[in-house]
Amino acid sequence: MDKYWSRRLENIEPYVPGEQPKDGVFIKLNTNENPYPPSPKALAAIRAAACDTLRLYPKPEYDGLRAAMAEFTGLEDSQIYAGNGSDEVLATAFLAFFAPGSRIIFPDISYSFYPVYADLFGIKYDMIPLRDDFTVDVKAMTRESDGVVIANPNAPTGVALPLPDIEYIVKNNAERIVIVDEAYVDFGCESVVPLIDRYPNLLVVQTMSKSRSFAGLRAGFALGQKSLIDALSAVKNSFNSYTLDRLAQAGAEAAVRDREYFDETRNRIIATRARTAGELQKLGFTVLPSSANFLFASHKSVPAEQIFAKLREKGILVRHFNKPRIDNFLRITIGTDDEMDALCAALREIVG
Ligand SMILES: *Cc1c(COP(=O)(O)O)cnc(C)c1O
Repeated sequence: MDKYWSRRLENIEPYVPGEQPKDGVFIKLNTNENPYPPSPKALAAIRAAACDTLRLYPKPEYDGLRAAMAEFTGLEDSQIYAGNGSDEVLATAFLAFFAPGSRIIFPDISYSFYPVYADLFGIKYDMIPLRDDFTVDVKAMTRESDGVVIANPNAPTGVALPLPDIEYIVKNNAERIVIVDEAYVDFGCESVVPLIDRYPNLLVVQTMSKSRSFAGLRAGFALGQKSLIDALSAVKNSFNSYTLDRLAQAGAEAAVRDREYFDETRNRIIATRARTAGELQKLGFTVLPSSANFLFASHKSVPAEQIFAKLREKGILVRHFNKPRIDNFLRITIGTDDEMDALCAALREIVG
């Protein structure tokens, strides 16, 4: 803390993203990126957009992308908000719906950006413990608060709540906003989007980063009834009207429209996930049931921190969180079949 820094930064502990190694020798299974390239149609759309019109500002209301996402989700254009990655969309939602000094709740084991936004914006929070099997205590998520945030499937566990449980949380928090972060929903979890028309307090957040192989493009969405979307736009237009540049709008729109490629790549990841989970179990790992593009696993005898370090020496990066309750787990992103074979071979040497 420097004397010139704003007091806003006094107690801030910024989020630490997973390592992005400078050389390309690592097998990267640490930040839940998609191992397959973005849709070729999306890349072509970005190339086509890289032209003289870049001298013009992008469309502030990203109409084309909005229409594509409306068609994909079955929602109205006015029920769709887009921003520069879902992290930015989440931050915008915290600003739009949670007042300074109010108190929100989220699970104790969840996406570690939530407490960071809350601290930055002066929002208080209580962390609701997950049960011992890492499932969400649904009832506890309906206690008195000023707002609820929940990731489904959860991160970093990969465990999904069935739709009726999410609906229970939304229904029993009718007086406050419930943000459902569906960053990993496309890998085998039922989305809560079809409930949007019934619940004016439901805001769903999704991203292009995982299931659409576009972590580098930065595009994310909020989906909800029009009045919630209007609140997000009001915050955006009080901050930066052009969060999505022309290339991102073109690429994201084409990717959303390429349904076939989306289904093919996510099904491949789901199949690789099932196979890898089986291999890890044979090696003595407990693997939580995953609905995401990663596995959360703990070995019966070798500590996670030790496995993490040895994998790194062998050129394989996974994620280890030095936090209570999960410090003996590794979060392993699903890569290609070849990458997972290399991982399993390395693990055989480490734990065998
Ligand atoms: C990856 C992730 C995000 C952020 O994704 P963006 O790349 O910012 O769109 C949000 N929530 C969860 C739970 C995530 O894992």
